[in-house]
Amino acid sequence: MAAHDDPTSLSESLASKATMRIAGLHKFDGFYTPLEERFERISRLGKRAMGVRAAGVTLIADDKLWFKSIIGWPVSELPLKDSLEQVMIDSGEPIVVLDTLKDARFANSLLVTSGPRFRFYAGYPIRDATRKIIGTFCAFDTEPKAADETLFETLSDLGHLAERELLTSDLWDAQSQLVSKLGSARRQALLDTLTRVWNRRGGLELLESLLQESETSGERIAVCMIDIDLFKEINDKYGHPVGDQALRKIAASIVASVRPDDIVSRYGGDEFLLVLRDAAPDLCRSVASRISANVKKTRLRTRQESASVTLSIGMAISDASKPMTAEKIIEHADQALYHKKQSGRAGAILYPDDIR
Ligand code: GH3
Ligand code: MG
Repeated sequence: MAAHDDPTSLSESLASKATMRIAGLHKFDGFYTPLEERFERISRLGKRAMGVRAAGVTLIADDKLWFKSIIGWPVSELPLKDSLEQVMIDSGEPIVVLDTLKDARFANSLLVTSGPRFRFYAGYPIRDATRKIIGTFCAFDTEPKAADETLFETLSDLGHLAERELLTSDLWDAQSQLVSKLGSARRQALLDTLTRVWNRRGGLELLESLLQESETSGERIAVCMIDIDLFKEINDKYGHPVGDQALRKIAASIVASVRPDDIVSRYGGDEFLLVLRDAAPDLCRSVASRISANVKKTRLRTRQESASVTLSIGMAISDASKPMTAEKIIEHADQALYHKKQSGRAGAILYPDDIR
């Protein structure tokens, strides 16, 4: 079942050409950017509203499909030709496929015959201001679906929401300057593939830039070292894949708990480095307790039961009057984290105030 987009749109005639190629993302420069709550929200909403296993927002460049956000399917990027999006993009129209096995255009796709074996697919093309397709909103399920008139409407609403979010000019927010300076090839190397937040090098690089900027701006920068408590037990009890899924959920929960211009990175195995701008002790404490509360509420569902974890957080703030290296401020936050681990875990400690 395929349906048409706004028939009056300028894109109609262009989009119907199967030859249409996808523009690079120069304007948006959104490729290989870290997890953002505003897109996670759309994916979550899509998954729930469409009653599917997985939903996400993708960006397209050259022959690659990169998932800006995806909930319910641990995928990061795909060759466009192997994705289910290709047919929809070629047609230029939103599409709802109730049963992929009954549709000759999808029945032989790799994602249908093997891998997740998707039986349901819905895709909506996201266009830039020139009406070029730059991404998609997509939904997948491993079960076929019965015809339902609201499905297409829901898809269209979510597609519009994702498009609006992508085209919003404050895109990538205050991180945008730092982020676009890096360029997408460099960013790819600085992202953690498991959790989609910055990796250790990414976190360090951005922290160094911020500290440098703060020397002239006088802004105080806070570093929070966040380590999951007794995470080894989650792995031991439920297995590594559940541990991996837990790390993804916890990273997303940290991102959802901070402002868009705060920097979240995965510093090591179960350790995250959070950099807060414009920080004061009270702000640090309230952010830490918000993160702790949100992560504690995050259910790490397993087949048998629903588990949750606590966090230990060590924090340190730069002193605008005394330039500080990234190593030094991290060392202070690490000392605070160590103290928290020694003094019972589950909570936050600020260096040096709380270390006595
Ligand atoms: P503590 O409260 O002292 O931090 O206890 P812990 O069990 O969390 O100990 P620690 O932080 O030293 O160990 C981190 C564990 O995180 C070790 C390893 O089992 C797990 N881990 C590290 N990287 C990964 C990963 O990529 N995936 C999964 N599933 N587990 C990981
Ligand atoms: Mg730990």
